[in-house]
Amino acid sequence: MGRANHAVVAAVHPLDNRTVTTGQDERFLLGCHLSIAGGVDRAIDEAERLGTSALQIFTHSPSVWRMKPIEPETARRFRGRRAESPIDSLVVHTMYLLNLATPDDALYQRSVDALLDEVHRAVQLGADAVVTHLGAHKDAGEEAGIERIAAALDHLTASDAWTETDDLRLLLENTAGAGTTMGSTFGQLAAILEDVADAERLGICLDTCHAFAAGYDLGTTCAVAETLDAFDRALGLDRLEMIHLNDSLTSLGSHRDRHAHIGRGEIGEAGIAAVLRHPRIADRPFVLETPKTLDGHPDADRINLAAVRALRAKEEAQ
Ligand SMILES: [Zn+2]
Ligand SMILES: [Zn+2]
Repeated sequence: MGRANHAVVAAVHPLDNRTVTTGQDERFLLGCHLSIAGGVDRAIDEAERLGTSALQIFTHSPSVWRMKPIEPETARRFRGRRAESPIDSLVVHTMYLLNLATPDDALYQRSVDALLDEVHRAVQLGADAVVTHLGAHKDAGEEAGIERIAAALDHLTASDAWTETDDLRLLLENTAGAGTTMGSTFGQLAAILEDVADAERLGICLDTCHAFAAGYDLGTTCAVAETLDAFDRALGLDRLEMIHLNDSLTSLGSHRDRHAHIGRGEIGEAGIAAVLRHPRIADRPFVLETPKTLDGHPDADRINLAAVRALRAKEEAQ
């Protein structure tokens, strides 16, 4: 996941006391969630076209339970293709149907099984991490939801799918907190991790749009520092292993999950820049899940990536 030994990009210049970029930013892990339509290799082709070093994919249609097995030959070709590409961080996002918090036994079992499948597929493709949503407790209550999720994660970490590799990470994604969805507060995510017997290879993926919609302000440098301090107190920033960098169409605390283009939502350029440049998370992979068209322009990814690179590199007078 590229967490260790990366140059910290923001440093105080000894002469003029400004925050400057040190020129070590070739380790900036940045990418987009890309489609695998036409074959998993296509996502790597597209990442190369965009010049990115991180990549997130679904390994199958995220709104369908059935997963067509990945043929060993397909996996082998994909891993070879990735090895010769500039992708340093490869992440698999699980399907949207999973609900690890549900009180419905049949849905719960199906979700736990699917999570194991997702992990196995990620191992086949040589991914560095799997990112998953946690689901909703419906009317069973938060406590019951936490127990359900922790039990699912215990089941996973004891499974063959998990132990067939010793370095794949599982990242729990925070949510906007719509309805009874779990994972919208740092305290709740911490409670889940505390309940898991072996949380060694578990971490958090922080989605900036979801956090903002859940009520964590990210709109200014100061607000970003406070929100990351809150994360640090609840979970420890070493648990923050990846960022889904999305602006938010809806307002702070709206509990609505609507991703916006970088700098064009309620978080805005200053907030996004502060997230990108926060020295304690600057070496994490940043993955965009922004809409794929912008003002009718079909190459929105390229436009959003350019905006991110400019905000990351911008010198900031203090
Ligand atoms: Zn997600
Ligand atoms: Zn996300």
